[in-house]
Order: sequence, then C-alpha cells, then structure tokens
Amino acid sequence: MNEINNSNTDQILDCYTHSNVVVTREEEPAPQNEQLKSYRDQLHKYFVQGVKTDFCQNITVAPILSAPCLRGKLPAMHYPVLFDPEKSNCCSLHERLEVLISDHCNSDIGRSLIEKLPSILLTLQGKLQLADKELNYDSQVHELMEIMGNALGDDTPKNLQEHLDPINQKLLSCKGPIMVFSARTPYQLLNIHLKERVATYSEFIAHMRRKLSGLNEIADLQDKDREKDSTHFEFASDLLSLDALQNVVPQRVSSDLPKARLKRIRDSIKILSNAEKVYTENPTKIFITKQLLESYDLKEVFGQATLEVVESDAISHAKDYLKKELSNFVALIRAMRLAELEIAQTYDESLHDAYFEAFAPSYLNDGDIKYFPPVIVIDESRNIVDQTKDFISLFSDGAFIKVFAINTLNDINLPVVASEMEESSLEIASLAVFRRNAYVYQGSIEDPYAFENALRHGLNATAPVLWNVLLPDIGSEDGPGSLIRIHRAIESRQFPRLTYDIEAGVDFGSHFNLENNPQCDLLYPNQTLEIKNPGGKDTEQISLSSADYLAMETRNLQTLEIIPGWYQNEKLVPVADYLSDDPKTLIGKIPIIQVVDEDYKLHRAAIPASWLQRIRSRRDYWRFLQELGGVRSQHFENKLATSKAEWTKAKEAALKALEARLSEEYETRRAADIEKTIRDILFALMEGKTDLASLAVNSITPVPVSVKLETDEESVETVPAPKETHKEEVSVSKVPWVESDECTSCNDCINTAPNVFKYNSNKQAHVHNPKGDKYAKIVAAAEKCPAMCIHPGLPHDPNEPGLEKLLKRAEKYQ
Ligand code: SF4
Repeated sequence: MNEINNSNTDQILDCYTHSNVVVTREEEPAPQNEQLKSYRDQLHKYFVQGVKTDFCQNITVAPILSAPCLRGKLPAMHYPVLFDPEKSNCCSLHERLEVLISDHCNSDIGRSLIEKLPSILLTLQGKLQLADKELNYDSQVHELMEIMGNALGDDTPKNLQEHLDPINQKLLSCKGPIMVFSARTPYQLLNIHLKERVATYSEFIAHMRRKLSGLNEIADLQDKDREKDSTHFEFASDLLSLDALQNVVPQRVSSDLPKARLKRIRDSIKILSNAEKVYTENPTKIFITKQLLESYDLKEVFGQATLEVVESDAISHAKDYLKKELSNFVALIRAMRLAELEIAQTYDESLHDAYFEAFAPSYLNDGDIKYFPPVIVIDESRNIVDQTKDFISLFSDGAFIKVFAINTLNDINLPVVASEMEESSLEIASLAVFRRNAYVYQGSIEDPYAFENALRHGLNATAPVLWNVLLPDIGSEDGPGSLIRIHRAIESRQFPRLTYDIEAGVDFGSHFNLENNPQCDLLYPNQTLEIKNPGGKDTEQISLSSADYLAMETRNLQTLEIIPGWYQNEKLVPVADYLSDDPKTLIGKIPIIQVVDEDYKLHRAAIPASWLQRIRSRRDYWRFLQELGGVRSQHFENKLATSKAEWTKAKEAALKALEARLSEEYETRRAADIEKTIRDILFALMEGKTDLASLAVNSITPVPVSVKLETDEESVETVPAPKETHKEEVSVSKVPWVESDECTSCNDCINTAPNVFKYNSNKQAHVHNPKGDKYAKIVAAAEKCPAMCIHPGLPHDPNEPGLEKLLKRAEKYQ
C-alpha cells in the first residue's frame, strides 16, 4: 500500500490525516513522435475550445483535494452539536457522551459504546436530518438513546438499559437542542441566540415598568385631585369653558401640575405603554424573502422573532422599517430619561426643555443601543448586491441592521453559461467593510463553534452587522458531501474566512482577521504528498487552488482532459504557477491539476481556458484580502527589494574602499618589512649567522589585496543585519606567517610547534622555519593563539595525512 502523507495538520485537512490513502505514479512508455505531436496539437485545441482529445482517458477521477473522499472516507465532523444553555454555547455531543458513558457505564460496556460513538452519531445525524418535522429536544434524546441501545448488536448486555437510564436523565436535564449539519442549522442557531437576547430584555422591561408606574402615580394623583375638586364645580361645568375652569380651581392643583408638565407625563406614559407591549411580545423583526422561507422551510424555525415575508428587496423594506423603529426607540429612551427626572421631581424646564426638544439618535449611548430590538434581513447575497445602494447607505449610516447573507455551493461554482459569470455577490463582505464601521463575518457552518461565536457577537454588536455565510445547496440531502465541499471551498480560497470587527482594537490591522484560513500568508495552501513510484518514494509539493475546488463538482470534472502518463512536456504547469507567471510567457502553456483515479493512481488533468476567469478572479480577491489583512503586502515586498538593492550597492562601494585601503597598507608594510629584513640580514652577517634564507622568507608579511563581495541572496531577504549577510574572501599565503606586532608572548605556539615558531628580539613570535613541524602542529598553534595572529598558510607536505580536515580547520585563521 502506498500512501499519501499530508504534512498539514490543519483541522480543515483532518480528512487527510485520518485517512490512509493510496497513490501511485506509474511510468508509461513514450509513443511515436507523430503521436506526441498530434496529442500536443489536440491538447492546445482542448485548452482553447474545451474539445477533448482523442487520447483523453475515460476513467473516474477526483481532484487530489478530495482524494480521501473517493473511498467514502469523510472528514471528522463536529456535528451533531449540543446547545448547552448553561454555558450558552454549542458543545460537542461526542465529547459530552464520552464523559457521560465513562461516568455511568462499567468499563466493558463503556469501552464498547465509546468505540461505537462515531457510527451512533452518524446514524443520529441521518435520522434527525431526515425527520419529517422538527423534533423537540426530548424526542431527539429519545432517538439517541434508541440508537445507543441497538449499537452493540448481538453483544448487547441484558442490563444495558440500566446504564443508559442515567445518561438519558443527564441529557434531559439540559435543554438542548441537538443540532445536525444541514442547510437549516444556521437558522436554528440564530433563533437560539435570539431567544437568549430576548431574555436580556426582561431587565429593560422591568426598568420601563418602574418608570411607567412612577409616571402613572403622578398622573393619577392629578386625576384624583381634579376629580375631587371638580365635584365642587359640577354645576358650572356646562356653563364654563375648560380654560375658565382652570382659573377657578384651587391654586394647589393647577400649580402642582402645570399643563405642560401634565402633557409631557401623559405623552411619556403613552410611549412607555406601547413599548412595554412590543418588548413583552416579540421585538425582533426578521425580513426574509418568500423564496428563502419556503426553500428552507423556515416558518417554524423562528419562534423568537416576528417574520416579515417579502417577495424581494428585503434590504429596502428593512431600511424603511428601521427608520420608523429608530424614531420609536429614540422616543422611548427620551421618555425614560424624562420619566426619571419627573419621578425624582428634578425636571427643570429652563434646563431640560431644550435638551428633550433636541433629543436625537446621536443622544443614544451603547447602554441604550443594546436594547434596540434586532432588525435582521435574511436574503441571498446576489439579491443583496442588486440592492447595493440601500445596503451601502445602511452601513454608511451605521444603522442597527443585521444582514444574514446566504451563499450556496452552487453560487461559487462555475456558471452554466459563461456569460453569466457574476462575481460581485461573492465579495459582498468587502462592501460591508468599506465604511470601516461594521462587524463582518464570512465563513460557514462547517465550524459550528466559530459560526455560533460570530452570531452571538453580531447580535450584541452596536454597529451594522453582516454575516456572509456559505451553505449547502437548497434541497441538498447530501450532508457529509456538502460538508467536504464547504471545507474545500474555504481551503482553496474560493470562499475564504474573514472577520472585520470594529470593536476588536483601535487600529485597522487589529480589526481585520484572516487567521482562520489555512496557511493564510500563501496564495494557496501547500501540501506535501509522499508518492510511491516504481523507483521508490518521492515527495512533491502541491498547491491546492480554486481549480481543484471546481474540479470537485461533477459537472466540471467531466470537462477535464486526463493527460496520458506518457505525455511529458514542460509546458504543462500547475495552476498556481500558471497564475503567477508573467502573462507574456504563458503562450503555449497549459494549466494542470493533480487527480487520482479509483485505484489511487495519480494523473494530471488539464483545465480548459474557460475556467481561468473565475480562478483568476478568486485569486485576485484573496490577494486583495491578504493586503487588507496585512498577511502579505506587495508594498512591503517592493520596499524590501529596493532596500536590498540599495544595501548591496552601498556594500560594494564600502568593499572597494576597503580593498584600496588594504592595498595601500600592504605597500607601506611591505616597504617596512623589506627595510627590516635588510637590517636583520646585515645584523646576522655581522654576527656570522648563515641561515639568511629563512630570515628573508619570514620577514615579508603577506597581506591580502583582493577582497570579494559575496552576497547571499536568501540571507538578505530574511536577515536584514548587514554584518551577517556578506563575507570577505581573503587570499591565502603559501607559507605560515605571524602578525608579530599582535603577539602577546604567551608561548603557546612555541610549545606547540617549536621548530616553526621562535621569538624575535622583541620577544614576539615569528616563523623561524615554515617546514619545521607538520602542518597539523601549525594549525593547532593557530587555534591556540589567543591573539589569533598566526596564519597557517598552505601545507608544505602534500602527503601529510588528514590534510582535507586540517585545511578546513585552518580556513578561519588564513
Ligand atoms: S601563540 Fe600567539 S601570542 Fe602566543 S606566542 Fe605564539 S604568536 Fe605570540
């Protein structure tokens, strides 16, 4: 068995890491030249026109991106998930059951049940997905218990039920529900979080009621007093006008509650009474298109909101409603603030009249806004793009709108008719980000925890909100298949994850986040494949592009040209390389992807030119996001290249100057050495010495004059410190020599190679006889020298053993 080992352990790729997939590459003998030529011509025609060649292999293949799925191996699913009201979030049902089974079953039964959990949960997933109607939580738990009861088959112990009962009880003590992976899941999660949010209104309603009762008390007192006082004047009521009556009622009543005060109290009572009714019933409003409501069968899902079903233009409808609601909400907050002053008897007309007269949305603070009932629009992204003007104006105004934009897998596929290629709906998140004042989440339900977090965050946000979500196709029953495609759509940058959160920090960089995409600093994530071929094992890096994603769709897959194994041509290039190449060099090149057949044999498949527009567009959008997210910046890369060029130029100039200085020093020292040597020779002659040759050889100090700049391209990129990115190459003397001026007279060299080194008259070492000892001793002396002033030169005996290693050791002292 040959296997694919995938180096990336990203959760998103767990499908690979949990699978044992076989891939082989077989060599095929090359055909005749004519056949090769014919194939080359036909392949180019295929690329341009999409007409398959006569040689196209008619076999079942899948892109390497989905290879493990060929044999029904599915990625690990987070689903089903259990909503835990105590923690107010979703948790893994698998993990919860594992704990409960360990707590309540004996070890044998527990082990068997835990082993069976994946298949138990898969069965539950299927049953709940296919249930005719939405099951309540108790029925869901009942189903689960039944599946668990049957999971052990013939090995079912008689007392299994005794073990399952406490698990059943524990599960029922939580309110649930259990959620499976389906196109309806996001709506169910949304409703759960709306329910939570509605619960937070109780405090606001209580606050409202206190104000209402305080104002009513004041108004009641007035009414009672009026009633009491007016009985004295009943006889006159038919004869006097109300104004006239005011003039004759006792002074106490009319001065306690002047007309203006009574009016504002009564107005506030009216506003508060209406609001209390609205908040007690169902303040959340959802605008949804009829088509979506019916397609996803959502009528029963939203128990926590008032649905406004519209034929089209949901955004525009919501905009009008929002305007009215905002004005009601402003009036409500105004009434509450006014009530506070009235109840405390601190309303000062000279101060407060002007304030309440001017009361506007800008007077609301975050504490008020959090009680503004959510106005949610649920519509398809492509419909929202049709209402761009209203959409942008809502986000520009910072309206309290929450838009739930739906994209299906079908939306990100290639259109059936190429002329219908519409890209803007896939980029709606950028429209929402453009005013930089919103909360934007783009992602999908394949990661329920991140999705749920985004829902909670968005519902509590006081900024405009967009959830741009990728869902399975409407009516799709293919749960796990859709899950895999959603995974791959994200991985291949076809539908990247992103969040933009205005509250996440003070600067733009902290608002924008792409980190949840695999290898987000790369154009496409890289995978290392280990491929077994007839000659052994090979590793190959492949990039998984959006072409790989498109090839997962059956309709597209059938248009691929499977290239025969015998056709080798450098013009066949992986899609990622094809996209990065200079357009001028693309002539004659054919972009390819890797595919595997049912026997996990690796093939190359050419894609037609008609795919390139979508692939390029998705690539460009991803690059745009990378720039925004700061994970890869072209400006930075350009700047780096310029700095590198400037640095190299400066270094070259500095090295030239150094070379000139060394030459000059050499000349000066050489002249001095010659003079000294002549002097030494004269002294030696005078003393009757005969070894004049060694004096002449060793006294002239060889000094390097050639200096060469070696620029390490890679290190310049990664290590900007100039000192570490270049080295000076020094010419090597043939004989050993000592920089006698530097010698500290430590004796080390004299002890190590006594026949080579001796002290001169200043008790500083010099080379007495370059061939006096073996080269090994000279190198050892250089290594010991604390002043590093011994330069070993080259070996005098070419037959000395271990010269290669010695030269290596000597290198740094030359
Ligand atoms: S080892 Fe170096 S410092 Fe010591 S005596 Fe020899 S040359 Fe001088």
